[in-house]
Amino acid sequence: MDQNLSRIVAQDKNFLNIINGRRVAALSQETITVLCPSDGLPFATIPAGTAEDVDSAVRAARDAFEHGPWSRMPAFERGRLLTRLGQLVEEHGDELAALESRDTGKPVRQGKADVVATARYYEFYGGAADKIHGDTIPFLDGFTALTLREPHGVVAGIIPWNYPMQIMARVVGAALAMGNTLVIKPAEDASLSAIRIGELAIEAGFPDGVLNVITGYGREAGAALSSHPGINYVTFTGSPVTGTAIQQAAATNNRGVTMELGGKSPQIVFADADVEKALPVLVNAIIQNGGQTCSAGSRILIERPIYNDVAAALGERFSKLIAAPHDMDLDLGPMVNPAQKRKVENFITSAAESGIEVVARGSIHVDAPVDGYYVAPVLFGAVDPASVLAQEEVFGPVLSLFAFDDEADAIKLANGTEYGLVAGIWTRDGARQHRVAKKVRAGQVFVNAYGAGGGVELPFGGFKKSGHGREKGFEALFDMSATKTVVFRHD
Ligand code: NAP
Ligand code: MG
Repeated sequence: MDQNLSRIVAQDKNFLNIINGRRVAALSQETITVLCPSDGLPFATIPAGTAEDVDSAVRAARDAFEHGPWSRMPAFERGRLLTRLGQLVEEHGDELAALESRDTGKPVRQGKADVVATARYYEFYGGAADKIHGDTIPFLDGFTALTLREPHGVVAGIIPWNYPMQIMARVVGAALAMGNTLVIKPAEDASLSAIRIGELAIEAGFPDGVLNVITGYGREAGAALSSHPGINYVTFTGSPVTGTAIQQAAATNNRGVTMELGGKSPQIVFADADVEKALPVLVNAIIQNGGQTCSAGSRILIERPIYNDVAAALGERFSKLIAAPHDMDLDLGPMVNPAQKRKVENFITSAAESGIEVVARGSIHVDAPVDGYYVAPVLFGAVDPASVLAQEEVFGPVLSLFAFDDEADAIKLANGTEYGLVAGIWTRDGARQHRVAKKVRAGQVFVNAYGAGGGVELPFGGFKKSGHGREKGFEALFDMSATKTVVFRHD
């Protein structure tokens, strides 16, 4: 264990909720034990928040929105507070990276990358807060019409466990820049960084009640939050099934939602591609965060003349991949929890049993604790596009290869799942780059590159089952606000 980890574990084993600028236990006093995925051992507790805790957080957020100093604060001052929070994230970067890695099992290197992105989100939205404005609209003689961009009010942010600190930052940054107040519900498997960020927000000087963090089980705290009548808007990242439940809950109060629901993202490799350049990117796009990435590049479509060569080169790289404890900082860590490990293993076993070719397997480090949740990466070849493996999100280190014959065939395969989050296109042909980018149904398309999860500035979100609404970049500010049209008559 490195120095940072021992200090955090020694100092703060019992994390608390943040409500109205104070650290508080759940009203029931119940807690949830936090386990480290690398060894399955307990190292902290979080409050098991329930509907009554959610209610008190929503009331605090409502009060801050309607009556507190936040309601009168100019946009540039909101921006300054976000910028200050970004600076505090940087100052506490080692601590936050260690905490995130221990909580989720991700390699420390990835925890550090998450800190950098988190600080960037606060910096970006801090700078953007006073740079978004309405329009004046040509209207009838004797009238002036203009639009104002107004906050929704109290926003609920329900955050998954894969990149908790980053995903919380993209929600918090955009929502607070626009003047909303927030109640954040992180996943029970990864709540620690959310609580620490909530504490740092107090230190940064955010007024009480602007950013509240409630931990607890999704079916309790999450369900209570998404159905609470005091919430004006819900933003969620996670599985399509939970997304449906949250939309139904929000619909009981007719509230707006942003849904980011995962993917089955393709990378298309044409025969003229710079394969040497592509190879490390193709591997990283599925191995980063152990494949537990909504935008993971989980399908590689390869033009038939180069299929065997690319499959062999990927196989060579896959066979060298090693899953290991987060603090060994190797290719990937464990899965986040035992259920996720079982889910990924079931995909692998049933795909192999159904006769899909296993091109290569990576390994689990010999020193990895037996009670950690490790899965060795697997590369499957010549996958049937109609198979479960080709259609469903595995959310683990499992990559599928497909061969295609021509551009039309590639586009059909790329669009041949219910998802549409991200796509990669590898070709030197400029006209083809444009044609294929237009025809692929995905919220982000990369040409001769792939950015799994990256890009603070880049609007991000899904088509089809991958969800709706946009996060990141300037676009997120539109989702996090509503247009008010004001018409003056002066004849
Ligand atoms: P999930 O159910 O979608 O959980 C995401 C968030 O929703 C967590 O904060 C969760 O809290 C909360 N939640 C769960 N049930 C809820 C409810 N009824 N009402 C309100 N909030 C609720 O994801 P999961 O069960 O952890 O993972 C299942 C699968 O989802 C994964 O195998 C993966 O395929 C996919 N997933 C996708 C993403 C993505 O980025 N697209 C992220 C995570 C997971 P608790 O965790 O405390 O229950
Ligand atoms: Mg955890």
